[in-house]
Amino acid sequence: MWDVLFTNVHLATMADGAYGEVRDAAIAVKDGRIAWLGPQADMPAMKVATAVTVHDGGGSWLTPGLIDCHTHIVHAGNRSDEFEARLNGATYEDIARAGGGIMSTVRATRAASEDELLKLSLPRVLSLLAEGVTTIEIKSGYGLTLASEAAMLRVARRIGRELPVRVATTFLGAHALPPEFAGRADDYVDEVCKMIAPLAAEGLVDAVDAFCERIGFSYEQTERVFKAARKAGLPVKLHAEQLSDQRGAELTARYQGLSADHLEHLGAAGIEAMAAAGTVAVLLPGAYYFLRDTTPPPVAAMRAAGVKMAVATDCNPGTSPMTSLLLAMNMACTLWRLTPQEALAGCTLHAARALGLHEEIGSLEVGKRADFALWRIARPADLSYAIGLNPCRAVVNAGKLRSPAL
Ligand SMILES: [Zn+2]
Repeated sequence: MWDVLFTNVHLATMADGAYGEVRDAAIAVKDGRIAWLGPQADMPAMKVATAVTVHDGGGSWLTPGLIDCHTHIVHAGNRSDEFEARLNGATYEDIARAGGGIMSTVRATRAASEDELLKLSLPRVLSLLAEGVTTIEIKSGYGLTLASEAAMLRVARRIGRELPVRVATTFLGAHALPPEFAGRADDYVDEVCKMIAPLAAEGLVDAVDAFCERIGFSYEQTERVFKAARKAGLPVKLHAEQLSDQRGAELTARYQGLSADHLEHLGAAGIEAMAAAGTVAVLLPGAYYFLRDTTPPPVAAMRAAGVKMAVATDCNPGTSPMTSLLLAMNMACTLWRLTPQEALAGCTLHAARALGLHEEIGSLEVGKRADFALWRIARPADLSYAIGLNPCRAVVNAGKLRSPAL
């Protein structure tokens, strides 16, 4: 017996990262998982007769629920004041001297209670969910103490419990050097390594991340964090090659990392290492756009090497205040020449792989979790094409239809 059946839909299955179009199709759910899919004319009549609930999709396109695999969505404060000051002529130095930049977000986040952090994060999360997102990755990294990092990660877990979204958490203690460790970066890295076990013991960490950059942490410091993650049995990922080539992608590949993210300054050795290790390239066009960067990531070379590419919002108050994954898809196509099929794979199957969840979500295949988005569009490329239009008609989480009703 099927629990739920969606009829009168066109499917983009995204199996193997291709559209895998099935027109005039149906898809059935049993116990929250995909039980059957195919042309509606081929549905087994006996099963159809016993389906508990049938939804007429009205000719919608049905895709896997979208996955935003890189966000800093839990934080307090925003930096529109700095944005305005810069546009009025202030330099980064002026802003840093006035206590701005990432440390203003750290101060605000440390000062906020978990309830306040949740309340501030909800509108951002809801903006993503309205566009068909069913899974979000959320990083810590604005607390930079054990207690404050734990608070951010607990709020991330609460979002997953209280809203219809699956949340993957990432510990990013090595995001920035807190002021109390000024001039003692190695000591702070020791602290970060010590935070991993207690956070993992509380069930708060699905992966460990770091910011490997001249203005972040060095290759050697990043490797120490990776070693501590490995000791705790946790997978790693990395903010790599955003502003310069630090060989972070190679390091991540050496640790069988899930993903290396940003990658504007990724070189040939990094591409080769990522391809060999199966490390996903997570592309973040929002930060590139907001920072008015001019060096694009090496998309053509990654494509040629067979590196799988994901696309995410990087939602954060400093460099990518973006809560639209559809806009990120459009930017990836317009700014970096991804194809619309690559952009959609980047927010479904390859995003799932960047979280280590590709056996569970990211494509429409029998046995996978029934997380779907239904769209009022003519063809899948519309999702990357339109700017500012939200054609999402309904979202399904583990087989349960959420608003608006079909
Ligand atoms: Zn980031």
